[in-house]
Amino acid sequence: MSPESTTARTAVVTGGTSGIGRAVARRLLADGHRVATVDLSPGDDEGAYAVTADVRDRAQVDKAMDAVRDRLGPVSILVNAAGVDGFKRFADLSFEAWLRVVDVNLHGVFHCIQSALPDMTTAGWGRIVNISSSSTHSGQPFMTHYVAAKSAVNGLTKSLALELGPAGVTVNAVPPGFVDTPMLRRAEERQLLGGTIEEHIARTPVRRVGRPEDIAAACAFLVSEEAGYITGQILGVNGGRNT
Ligand code: NAD
Repeated sequence: MSPESTTARTAVVTGGTSGIGRAVARRLLADGHRVATVDLSPGDDEGAYAVTADVRDRAQVDKAMDAVRDRLGPVSILVNAAGVDGFKRFADLSFEAWLRVVDVNLHGVFHCIQSALPDMTTAGWGRIVNISSSSTHSGQPFMTHYVAAKSAVNGLTKSLALELGPAGVTVNAVPPGFVDTPMLRRAEERQLLGGTIEEHIARTPVRRVGRPEDIAAACAFLVSEEAGYITGQILGVNGGRNT
């Protein structure tokens, strides 16, 4: 990395106390950034400043961002990793269940970006990375609500990148595919993956399951100085499962 890519910034990682978000928080800490996690659970990691908040609730998000500003300074980097999955045949899907999944995965991204954005536009520098899902490449049966919300996140990413480019803020999305996290293990336990993890590995070109650190590496690059000419992009990290 070039020296300028290690400029210390204040980074917020939502969903930062489990799985992918946790790996992103650790990686950004290792890269020298000041890191806060915003999650329903405080987690047990040392190093990051843990703020407990529900990303669906704007008042809680605003309060969380204020706490981060007070402790670590204005927010320059936002990685939206908080998310929930959902599996239900569409015909049986209640509107409440639909709303819950859309609320966390899409509206949570809306709230967190809007809440952190003034810091970035004031500074004339910002990096936003939204964790969507590889299911948006091809669709996924029984996950209409989830895929709809994650596809909307990709669309928001592209449109917002056009709005914020002149302000010095980049906006990109990373749709992960098949990453070994508590979310994936819970789905496997409930036999919702359409096969075991081992069977999926056999169908994955790089012949392994994704690691949270694989996603963290992509995020670390996208939030770096040297990624400043990359915006509005959807960078798949999926072992070649989706091309
Ligand atoms: P995870 O369940 O391990 O972690 C998700 C985190 O989000 C948890 O810490 C949880 O507390 C937090 N969270 C959930 N709802 C929240 C809310 N309302 N407010 C604040 N925090 C909330 O899951 P993961 O696999 O690490 O998933 C991270 C992201 O990656 C999610 O957006 C998920 O949809 C996406 N994703 C994961 C995979 C995969 O293979 N694991 C694949 C595609 C997309």
